[in-house]
Amino acid sequence: MAAEKVEQDVVVTLQYKLSLDDGELVEESEQDDPLMYLHGHQNIIPGLEEALEGMSIGEKKNIIVEPEDGYGEYDAEDMGRIERDDLPAEFDPEPGMVIEVTDDDGAEAEAVIVEVDDDGILLDFNHPMAGERLHFEVEITGLRAATAEELDHGHVHDHDHEH
Ligand code: ZN
Repeated sequence: MAAEKVEQDVVVTLQYKLSLDDGELVEESEQDDPLMYLHGHQNIIPGLEEALEGMSIGEKKNIIVEPEDGYGEYDAEDMGRIERDDLPAEFDPEPGMVIEVTDDDGAEAEAVIVEVDDDGILLDFNHPMAGERLHFEVEITGLRAATAEELDHGHVHDHDHEH
C-alpha cells in the first residue's frame, strides 16, 4: 500500500549524506542500498525523525540536528578502565580500537580504547558522534504503509534483514 507522506507507521526509504560541522563527510547511503526505516518507532535519531515528518517522495532537504537530538552530548565522565589481568591474554589493545564490553548486569556496550598502558586500558563509552552537530542532506525515495507484522515488531522488514 502506498503512503503520501512521512508520518507515523509509514516505511520510509531515503538517500542521505551525513557531515559534521567541519564539513567532513562521515556517512553516505549507497544508491542501491538506501536507508529504510519505520517512522515513529524511534528507529533513527529523534532530531532526524522529527525533521523528516511530512516529507513526500522526491523531496530533498538539508537538516541540522543538535547533539541533544542526535547522539547526545559528550560526557567526559562516561569513561572506564579495564585492568590488564581482566583482558583476554591474546588481546593486543591499541588506541582507537572499538570493542564490545559487557557490564556486571550483562548489558553490552561499544567503547573506544583511548589509552593503553602496562596496567590496562582506558575506555570511552560515548558514541563516536556524541557532542557533534549533524548535517544531513536527505532525499525521500520511497514510502509505503507498514505491514501488521512490522508494526508488531516496531521495525521494518526487508529481504535482507529478517527477524
Ligand atoms: Zn522483526
